[in-house]
Amino acid sequence: MKKKIKTLFKNLCCSVCKSDFDEDSIQIKREEEGLSVVHLECQKCGKKFGMAFLGFSNIEVKNEDDLAFEVQQGPDPISYDDVIDAHRFIRDLDEHWAEYLPKS
Ligand SMILES: [Zn+2]
Repeated sequence: MKKKIKTLFKNLCCSVCKSDFDEDSIQIKREEEGLSVVHLECQKCGKKFGMAFLGFSNIEVKNEDDLAFEVQQGPDPISYDDVIDAHRFIRDLDEHWAEYLPKS
């Protein structure tokens, strides 16, 4: 499974120092059936990119419902930066989170 996750990050590089992520950059914190929690950290500059929750049973099977994010295909793919932005957004949510909801 780690090899598949590595494949997922293969074409990505650190947004700070532009060095490619390697196998050591990816730490699998938790791995369960259909869900992996990975921690990403640049080995060169030490930039931490936080956790990513990857829901998939098999990366080769490009089932949109099973894949937490798509990095290469699709007309408007979600980029890795989008995942990071989402991560930061969720992390920074506080008791005022409801203010982010659209007002009806
Ligand atoms: Zn870096």
